[in-house]
Amino acid sequence: MAEQIGFIGLGIMGKPMARNLVKAGYELTVYDIVGEAVEELAIAGAKAASSSQEVAAATGKVITMLPDSADSERAILGPGGVLEGARPGAIIIDMSSIAPSMSQKIAAECSKKSVEFLDAPVSGGEPGAINAALAIMVGGKQEVFDQCSDLLKIMGSNVVLTGDVGAGNITKLANQIIVAANIEALSEALVLAQKGGVDPERVINAIRGGLAGSAVMEAKGPMMLERNFRAGFRIRLHRKDLRNVLQTAEELNVPLPVTALVQQMLGSLVNDGDQDADHSAILHFLEKLAHVEVKKGGQ
Ligand code: NAD
Repeated sequence: MAEQIGFIGLGIMGKPMARNLVKAGYELTVYDIVGEAVEELAIAGAKAASSSQEVAAATGKVITMLPDSADSERAILGPGGVLEGARPGAIIIDMSSIAPSMSQKIAAECSKKSVEFLDAPVSGGEPGAINAALAIMVGGKQEVFDQCSDLLKIMGSNVVLTGDVGAGNITKLANQIIVAANIEALSEALVLAQKGGVDPERVINAIRGGLAGSAVMEAKGPMMLERNFRAGFRIRLHRKDLRNVLQTAEELNVPLPVTALVQQMLGSLVNDGDQDADHSAILHFLEKLAHVEVKKGGQ
């Protein structure tokens, strides 16, 4: 019989990840607070549940893919949540990007009920979720990781245990610092080129093979040139990640000056109505300062 897996949180990322598990032959029971998302997965072959508790009662491993710390806390520890339905020995894999301290709090509550917990956030965005090519960074016990790595490999191409519970999210925060600073630097560069009368597309073509080239340039450069800011990864979610970075940095007494600056930019973009735009819309902030709009052809 196929292994019974639960999946909670069927948004931009969760939906394609859950679809890949169904395609791989797992018996999936799913839940989201948005009913249409559940119906879509039911059409794809999953069983629909009406609460997180019901998902946990029907399955031995439960994956959650939710926006932020408070959502994971509510869905796992709250009333009608995963922990109320989970049997001793069950494993909860929270793939949401949340504060490492929240992962540790949830794991401690799970352990009181003999339920295991992994934090396993991802990078690779919507395309990575669709193509099962996510990078998955995991925190937790080695023996629990070993029981879950085959399942995680259905959704990702690079699955790495980086340490104890919380380490997955520390790794993800490190990732988000690098991505945010890269998008900001790319934006500054293209704004300068545009105002200097040089076609930004030619600039990218000239420098992509050198040290300035990056995965960010390859993924976000074309979006900026096409002025296509459809998410992708929403500004409000990257702002949430940098908030978690700065909160964790404060706890550890680590100054992160560039991250703090980009966080201010994201706040300003939310004020401008860009909260649901892709994070490549950081470009808008720099364009506004320079009174220029980056365009293919440079005109
Ligand atoms: P999303 O907002 O599209 O999806 C979140 C889903 O969770 C929604 O469908 C929402 O209805 C559901 N939800 C919220 N609270 C719930 C609850 N209590 N019970 C059940 N369902 C609930 O977000 P997303 O883009 O899919 O991102 C999910 C996580 O993955 C976030 O932590 C994000 O930072 C991270 N992430 C996203 C990307 C990306 O490119 N979108 C990339 C890497 C990591």
